[in-house]
Amino acid sequence: MFSALTDKLEDAFRKLRGLGKISESNIADAMREIRLALLEADVDFKVTKDLIEAVKTRALGEEVLKTVTPGQQIVKIFHDELEKILGSAADLDLGPPQRILMVGLNGAGKTTTSAKLANWLKKQGKRPLLIALDLYRPAAVTQLQVLGQQLGVPVCVPAAGETDVVRATRAALAWLEQQGSGVAIFDTAGRQEVDEALLSELKKVRDLVKPNETLLVADAATGQQAVAVASKFHETVTITGLIMTKLDGDARGGALLSMRQVTGRPVKFIGVGEKVDQLEVFHPDRMAQRILG
Ligand code: GDP
Repeated sequence: MFSALTDKLEDAFRKLRGLGKISESNIADAMREIRLALLEADVDFKVTKDLIEAVKTRALGEEVLKTVTPGQQIVKIFHDELEKILGSAADLDLGPPQRILMVGLNGAGKTTTSAKLANWLKKQGKRPLLIALDLYRPAAVTQLQVLGQQLGVPVCVPAAGETDVVRATRAALAWLEQQGSGVAIFDTAGRQEVDEALLSELKKVRDLVKPNETLLVADAATGQQAVAVASKFHETVTITGLIMTKLDGDARGGALLSMRQVTGRPVKFIGVGEKVDQLEVFHPDRMAQRILG
C-alpha cells in the first residue's frame, strides 16, 4: 500500500531538497512530479489538483524561496497539507442508541468488517450484537451467522424467504429490544454499483434504525470512481465515518485520500487482512509518515 506513491514522492523530494537555490520553475517541476505520483496512486483528479494548489499557494505566500532551505520547506508544507486531508483521529461513537449501520458496495468487505468490529468491541469490554440485513446476497446472512458463532456474538437473521427489507429491519429492531443493551452492528446489502435501488433501500433502513454511526466500508483499491461512490452514499445516508478495507493488498491507496477529502468524514478503521482480528484503528499521522517515507 502506498509504496509506489512513497517511492515517487521520495524522488521528487530528494530533488527538491538537493537544490541549493530554488526558482519558481524548480517548484513547478517538482509539483508536476508530485501531481503525477498522486494521480498514479489513484488519488482523485480534483483532490490532487487542490492539494497541489494549496502547497503552491503556501510556498509562494510564505516566501519559501527566500529561506535557506526552500526544498525542505516545501516538503514540510506538503506533509502538512497531506495531514490535513487525512484528518485527525476519530473514535467510534458509542453513545446512544449504540447502533452502527454498515454500508457499501458488494464485495467491499461489509460482512467481514461487521464481524471484525464486533470482535474489536468485545475486546473493548462492550457487548456487540450483529444484525444481518443483506437480503440481496443470501450467502452474507450465513457468513455473518458463522462469524458470530465463532466470536460468541448473538446474530439476528431475517426470517426464511424474507425479501422485504423494511419488514426485516422492523423484526431486527424487535429482536434488539429483547437483547437488552449492547452495540448493534447492522450489515446491509450492497450492489455492484451505487444504483437507485440500493440507495432507496438504505434510506429506508437508515430511517428505521436511526443509527448514531453510519460507516461506509470501501475497498482501498477503488479507483477513480471513489469520489462518486463516496459522495452518493454520503448524500443519501449521511455517513459518519469510513472504513477502508484491503489495505494489506497492493491497492495504490488513492481511494482513502479521495473519499476522506470528498466526504470530510474521518477514516475510523482500516482492514488489513481477511481474519477477524485484522482491523486497526486508523492513525492519520502514521499514515502520513508512511506515505511520505
Ligand atoms: P461484502 O459483500 O461487502 O459483505 O464483502 P465481504 O465481507 O464478503 O468481503 C469480500 C471479500 O473481501 C472476502 O473475501 C473478504 O475476506 C475480503 N476482505 C474483507 N476485508 C478484507 C481486508 O481487509 N483484507 C483482505 N485481504 N481481504 C478482505
